[in-house]
This record gives sequence, structure tokens and C-alpha cells, in this order.
Amino acid sequence: MLFLTYINLIMPTYSKKIAIIGAGIGGLTLALALEKKGIDFHLHEQANSFEALGYGLQLSPNVVRVLQDLGIGEELEAISHRCLGFELKSFKSNNTLAQWKLKSDTPYYQCRRADLHQLLYNSLKNKDKISFAQKLQSYEVEGEQIFLNFENKNSITTHALVGADGVRSPIRQSLFPTEKPQYAGYAAYRAILPFTPEYNSLMDKATVWMGENHHVVAYPNGNQNKTQPWLNLVLVVKDAQWHEQGWTIPADKQEIAENFQNQSPLLNTILKDLVSNPEPCFKWGLFDHKPLPFWTQGKITLLGDSAHPLLPFQAQGAAMAIEDAYILALCIDQETTIEKAFIKYQDLRLKRTTKVQQTSRNNADIFHATGIKAMVRDTGLKLISSINGELLNQKTAWIYNYDPLTLPL
Ligand SMILES: Cc1cc2nc3c(=O)[nH]c(=O)nc-3n(C[C@H](O)[C@H](O)[C@H](O)COP(=O)(O)OP(=O)(O)OC[C@H]3O[C@@H](n4cnc5c(N)ncnc54)[C@H](O)[C@@H]3O)c2cc1C
Repeated sequence: MLFLTYINLIMPTYSKKIAIIGAGIGGLTLALALEKKGIDFHLHEQANSFEALGYGLQLSPNVVRVLQDLGIGEELEAISHRCLGFELKSFKSNNTLAQWKLKSDTPYYQCRRADLHQLLYNSLKNKDKISFAQKLQSYEVEGEQIFLNFENKNSITTHALVGADGVRSPIRQSLFPTEKPQYAGYAAYRAILPFTPEYNSLMDKATVWMGENHHVVAYPNGNQNKTQPWLNLVLVVKDAQWHEQGWTIPADKQEIAENFQNQSPLLNTILKDLVSNPEPCFKWGLFDHKPLPFWTQGKITLLGDSAHPLLPFQAQGAAMAIEDAYILALCIDQETTIEKAFIKYQDLRLKRTTKVQQTSRNNADIFHATGIKAMVRDTGLKLISSINGELLNQKTAWIYNYDPLTLPL
């Protein structure tokens, strides 16, 4: 029955029927962007129901621009806090190394990942275009058609396939069988705490404490009812071994508090609150992938973490997935064939995402520097911040000022 429905749907727009695998942030954004353009698609998600996972997300102006253009700017504002600037602090001395105000006409938001995911889902008018419990197992390309085989024994035929299936993408693995995501040598702990008055100095910004082999990011984020803000915490430590996989592995909070002891009274209070607070804390190993030479093969392409898994040290993973989705929808809309659209999309995106991947990896070294390297970093940051803090804005301008709405397509 599903098979027949699918065939019926694709008949009128034969050449532009898209199957998207994965209803994460990238897949949902692509669905929304295609729906806005009246392009037919179907989204297949392996989870049994809508699953909004994770804690905080920072949404820099480059991605807020896209979400505003997709018509969800007001709703985004309602679930977010506005970040006005940044502060970098030393884990060892608690000294401020640098602080600066963000200069942008477009807001920088901090929200809960689950709220953004829910917002994207709610914004889709036609929920019939999403099927859950559809884990893609394999696919075969035969002439003009692609056969998708799902674990629940469902099979369908499509004419174009987008792998928005995350860091462990089976579609990427089929395109690059010998390439695998690599454990990057860092474990991340994520937690949220109710935002108490003690944390007031962390309001309206993102604060990063940098120390030897450790760093902590703290920022406020909203909740859907605007009743109470939360403090979002990401604690990252160098850890040579990693064996477990998954997004919801519970962490030992007492162990974290001991491991992250530092010279900042505020950060130590946060760690104490973390231990006593009933909200769970999760850990996961950070994986990335060396940049791929291409993402498109005929009528198959990749998007988001599946195309370019990133370390979270520039807060750009979801941002790149959302930019990808927006530009892919533009290319599909404007090109005469899917093959041309997928190649154009790849050409427009590959260089930028590769550079963001590399920058995120470099930031890992900077945040976790030890010895002389750490001294050079701290002195350099203090100097730049005192002479001309604007230089710190310029460092991220190529990321935040990017405006996909004005790309020459
Ligand atoms: C600690 C940490 C902090 C972060 N902070 C930020 C931040 O501040 N800002 C930011 O922009 N990014 C951040 N990110 C990154 C961001 O969360 C990811 O980059 C983003 O979610 C990627 O979206 P995606 O849609 O590509 O993949 P995902 O969100 O992983 O979605 C993939 C989807 O595909 C589905 N799927 C997988 N395999 C199959 C299959 N075989 N069949 C069907 N469905 C399948 C999955 O169930 C999932 O729903 C952070 C990441 C980490 C780890």
C-alpha cells in the first residue's frame, strides 16, 4: 500500500521526487525547504517516533539567516536566548583571556536542540511525508531508479536519494566503503542546570574556560514556555580510549566534578550543582571524518554530518547541516535535472564545509593546549583583546557573515 502511494505521489513530478534518509536537523530542514518550494519528497527516519535529543545548540547568524528565510524566525526567537558576545577564561587562573561583543545585524541564538528539532518538525505542513521506523538497510541503483530496502522489509523506489543520516551514515559508507569516522580523542559531557541567580554573570554570552586537556562551554538557553532559562554545559576532556556508542550514555557526575576541578569559584559551584541536580548528564565520544573529495554520485548525495562530520569546537555542525539543506533545495529548484542540482550543490558547499571541519579541529588543539603552547595562546588572546577586540570578530566573520540567500546561483 505504502509502495503504491509512493508511486502515485511521484508521477506528476517524476524528475524531482526526492527520498531523504534521516529526520535529524539537516533532514528536517531539507524537508521544510523543499516543501516551501513545492518540490515532492519523502523523509524516512529509523526511529519509531519523533525523537528530539540533546541539550544546547548555538545558532550563529549564518544559520539564523536561513531559518528566518524559511519563515520560522519568530518561533526561533521564542525558544532562544540571544547571545551578545563571548568570554574566554583560563581554567588554571580564572583570569579572563579575552572578551568581545558580537557585531551582527542578524541574531546569534542559543536554544535547546530538542526545541529546534521540534520547531522544524512542527513547521512541516504535510506530516504524511515523514515515515518513522524506516531504517535504511541497503539500496540499489538500476538505470533511472533507486531501490531502497528498509529493515522492516518495506521497499520503495525513488529517483533521487539524499543521505541526511548522520555521522555513521550508511549511505556514506556505501559510497566510500573504506572510509570510517575516526574517534577524535575527546569525550564530551553534556548537561543542563536550572539557571540560578548565581550564574548571572554567564547571561547573554557564551563563556569558555580553557585548561590543560580540558575545556568547558557554558551558556544560557531557552525553554519552550519561556518560564525559566537553563544553563547549558559542554565539558570536554582528552581521552585516548572510547568504546561506547550512542547519544544517551549516562555519565558519572561525581567523576566529572573531580576531573574538572579548577581555579574558578563559579565553575566549581556549577560542578557542585551538577552533582546534586537530578537532570541527567550524558557523555559521548567525539568522532569526525577527514574531508571527503565528493558527496554526489549521480542521483545520490550526502548532507550534514553524513557529508562532513565536525568536531563541535566551532559550534557549527547543525549550522552546516542547515546551510547544506537550504542550498540543496535551491539547487534542486533551479536546475533542470537532479544530477546537475546535486553537483552544483556539492560545488557550492564542499570548500566551505571542509574549511569549517579543519577550523573545528584546530580549535580542539587551541582549547586543550598545554605548556608553552597554552602560554602563547593566553598571552596572544589577552593582547589582541586589549588592543583591538574587533579582531576576534574578524576571525569568525567568514563563518558568521556567510549569507546563502545572496549566493549567485
Ligand atoms: C557536544 C556537541 C555539541 C554541539 N553543539 C553544536 C552547536 O552549538 N551548534 C551547532 O550548529 N552544532 C552543534 N553540534 C553538532 C550538531 O548536533 C550536529 O552536527 C547536527 O545535529 C547534525 O545534523 P544531521 O541532520 O546531519 O545529523 P543527525 O542530527 O545526527 O541526524 C541523523 C538522522 O538520521 C537518522 N538515521 C541514521 N541512520 C539511518 C538509517 N539507516 N535509516 C533511517 N534513518 C537513519 C538518525 O536516526 C537521525 O535522526 C554539537 C555536537 C556535539 C557532539
